[in-house]
Amino acid sequence: MLHTINLDCIACGACLKECPVNAIEAGTRIYTINDAHCIDCACCVPVCPTEAIVPNISPEETRLAWARALQEVEEDVEVPARVATTHGTVA
Ligand code: SF4
Ligand code: SF4
Repeated sequence: MLHTINLDCIACGACLKECPVNAIEAGTRIYTINDAHCIDCACCVPVCPTEAIVPNISPEETRLAWARALQEVEEDVEVPARVATTHGTVA
């Protein structure tokens, strides 16, 4: 799980000097973290004024998070026995 910078970044540059491996780069609008260099030390996280530096979860973690969220929604929503669609009624 590496870190990434989201769209809350205001390009202040405060994180740049905190990174021990120079993994942070100034982008066109927001700063970015180079995954190939980031060692996941989280030194950059506390200096960010907008909390834009966040853990970048892996595809597998993302899949599990979506599966859990979907399961919670399905448990909350009562599915009707018959569902009307634009193509007719589905049992
Ligand atoms: S988590 Fe550590 S290595 Fe990665 S960008 Fe931030 S300061 Fe650099
Ligand atoms: S400290 Fe936060 S707001 Fe400033 S450049 Fe880095 S990620 Fe962007």
